[in-house]
Amino acid sequence: MASAKLFKKLKAKPPRDLDKVVHQLHEDAFRKIDCLDCANCCKTTGPLWTDRDRARVSKHLGMKTATFEAQYLRVDEDKDWVLQTLPCPFLGDDNDCGIYDVRPKACREYPHTDRVKQHQILGLMEKNAAICPAVEHIVARMEERFLQARPSSAESGQQTRGPRRNR
Ligand code: SF4
Ligand code: SF4
Repeated sequence: MASAKLFKKLKAKPPRDLDKVVHQLHEDAFRKIDCLDCANCCKTTGPLWTDRDRARVSKHLGMKTATFEAQYLRVDEDKDWVLQTLPCPFLGDDNDCGIYDVRPKACREYPHTDRVKQHQILGLMEKNAAICPAVEHIVARMEERFLQARPSSAESGQQTRGPRRNR
């Protein structure tokens, strides 16, 4: 599988410009993809809920934190607070988030492709490529950029100077 090859290569030796490349591709992906047409992350993988998330959202809903937790959340095998059910109960039929302004930090940051130090979260990107079409787009472009065979000047009979590929 091409992406397995890509991630093996990137993890072995992350390119110096990895953050810059991923951030540009992130911008490009989200110019093309509208989360309101998708919501796959909200349907298939819920966020982890921090103490602050639980306090903020329960207050927003006018509930005691313990009542909110009992109604919507559970503690998983890693001792993290997660949703009891998926799709997320706050996802509307129109793919809108019913608690958008106070949503969990993990929801605000997903799919994490605009974070710095991408070399530290390559495993997350690999996993999210199967969930998020924007990450799938980013990974596809990265395969083109980082796995493309570049013939040497001797093989191609050409000089290496000249316009660079714009990817
Ligand atoms: S899976 Fe990706 S594209 Fe889809 S809603 Fe979530 S962040 Fe947006
Ligand atoms: S809280 Fe909102 S953004 Fe987060 S998973 Fe639920 S619907 Fe999606």
